[in-house]
Amino acid sequence: MVTSLRSLPVRRPFLTATLAILALAGLAAGALTAEPRAKDLFGAEKLPAVAAAQSFGFYSKGCFAGGVAIPMDGPSWEVMRPSRNRRWGHPAMIALIEKLARDAHADGWPGLLIGDISQPRGGPMLTGHASHQIGLDADIWLTPMPSRPLSMAQRESMSATLMVDEKTHLVKDALWTTRHTQLLKRAASYPEVERILVNPGIKKKLCDTVKGDRSWLRKIRPFWGHDYHFHMRIGCQPGSHGCKAQEATPADDGCGKPLAWWFTAEPWRPNKNPDAPKARDIMTMANLPKECRAVLDAPNPASAEAVTYHGDGLPIAGNDLPIAAAEPPAESSAEATVPVGATAMPASASAFAPTPKIGIPLPRPRPEN
Ligand SMILES: [Zn+2]
Repeated sequence: MVTSLRSLPVRRPFLTATLAILALAGLAAGALTAEPRAKDLFGAEKLPAVAAAQSFGFYSKGCFAGGVAIPMDGPSWEVMRPSRNRRWGHPAMIALIEKLARDAHADGWPGLLIGDISQPRGGPMLTGHASHQIGLDADIWLTPMPSRPLSMAQRESMSATLMVDEKTHLVKDALWTTRHTQLLKRAASYPEVERILVNPGIKKKLCDTVKGDRSWLRKIRPFWGHDYHFHMRIGCQPGSHGCKAQEATPADDGCGKPLAWWFTAEPWRPNKNPDAPKARDIMTMANLPKECRAVLDAPNPASAEAVTYHGDGLPIAGNDLPIAAAEPPAESSAEATVPVGATAMPASASAFAPTPKIGIPLPRPRPEN
């Protein structure tokens, strides 16, 4: 082909044109790689998508519509780090946090300090968590609510209490109380709650001390971090056909071999590839369920207050229309694989295993949350 072009100088203009087209195609390919990152799009949203409440995708790869906010203050809770604007969740999640605040208070816990739930429309976050993307995850501090109300400035600056010795990975006995155990038991008691992530030291403390009913320990899952707060995760909610459920936890209390693994050197080895990009740094809209585009495009409510849940059980105006024809996830995209880098971890020890494929090669060294 090239030879024939050389022998026919008259066709050179065509060659030039062809090269020009190829150059344009190259530019287009370049533009494609510069596609906006999903975390920038979702991180910029200040208000939720007004639509029927629905979660799309998986905890670490998705978004949600019809989100509602938990009020900054309640009778027995305070929202921490309010400037992050992560007090949004599926209405079932927000209702459950309010219920936990009430129940825990009745149990003797002064009140909840609420950490991150989700961004208004979920999606990957600019900083922090890998999960919390579909409105069904919430972080609750292991520090009880102080008796004096916290100012907004204090909520930004106050530190939580580190409950675990970073060298031994054991709970600091001077800090742990039966009230902490009771709070976790209460959270685990709700049928909606599928998993509670805690530091391995906290799991061990419960394994070593809980007497009587130990069935709830099944839901308490050891994971890195989670030494200042615990992470409460509920299952896919009715009406969310595009929500991918996680694998059920094993039926036993999880206090045997899988826990012992956390007290070996293996989980704490330095990350071999610390500079590898995190999933949120490379995910574009193409990596999220297609409904997430509609979630981004959906209208805003009149104000944050208009979609703040006040525990009255009343539907929030406008949140009755489905965002898009809900379809069950395609079998192929629902395929579950153990994350790369986690192969040495017994499946039953991983809070998140198996994780659905994300569609791009991802190093998963030491997930933050
Ligand atoms: Zn969390």
